[in-house]
Amino acid sequence: MKKLLIAALFAVTIAGCAHDTGTITQISTIDALLAGDYDGSEKTSNLTRYGNFGIGTFDRLDGEMIVLDGKVYQAKSDGRIYTPDNITTPFASVSFFVPEITVNLEKPVTFEELEKLIDEKVPDMNIFCAVKAEGTFSKIKVRSVPAQSKPYSPLAKVVTAQPIFEYENISGTIVGYRLPAFVKGINVSGYHMHFIDTSKTYGGHILGFQMAEGRIYADTERKLTLILPERGLKSIDLSKDRSEELKKVEK
Ligand SMILES: [Zn+2]
Repeated sequence: MKKLLIAALFAVTIAGCAHDTGTITQISTIDALLAGDYDGSEKTSNLTRYGNFGIGTFDRLDGEMIVLDGKVYQAKSDGRIYTPDNITTPFASVSFFVPEITVNLEKPVTFEELEKLIDEKVPDMNIFCAVKAEGTFSKIKVRSVPAQSKPYSPLAKVVTAQPIFEYENISGTIVGYRLPAFVKGINVSGYHMHFIDTSKTYGGHILGFQMAEGRIYADTERKLTLILPERGLKSIDLSKDRSEELKKVEK
């Protein structure tokens, strides 16, 4: 009987843990980043306390962040992956990834088709959804951004000179989120995904792809924790609508 009780308690604890994992924790806001607030405010080593999966950028906008299996990867503007030790982030979103939905691809999909597939599996567009896809990509187009120096230019200006990299027949993982329309100003509404290849050599912010085969996973979350920089955001005007700027930056 005692054994059974212990087993039952254990099961409850596990279920409880799984529930607690349904949180996205983010550092600062997308509009602060769009406005040029590129100074890192949170150590990436702290970030992994809030999640083992996620995306973001680095201090001075030095590349695209991919957090996968608890490790932080930096895709710099040479398109290559680095593993930074002592570095901060001005903007990132992380969560503990627990796949709730798995889809085995039956045919190749483009970026738009993958979005449609997730939308079918997770039709509630008003919940947070972490998206992971592992497989082979017959084509994938990614970008990164070079480190900036002060005075910082707005993000929409920086990305006009973004280095773009195209790979063929590369295997790897997509890491990202689909977020509701109502996060506008705080994070990216819709899909925002980054890529890292299996050898952990190449990666970046995804602009397009053709995924040949693999699996897609989705993990829904109902909680969002927002951490603003300790230094505050007082010099930035966050009252204006930056959605047009964001469109330019994402595509
Ligand atoms: Zn990105």
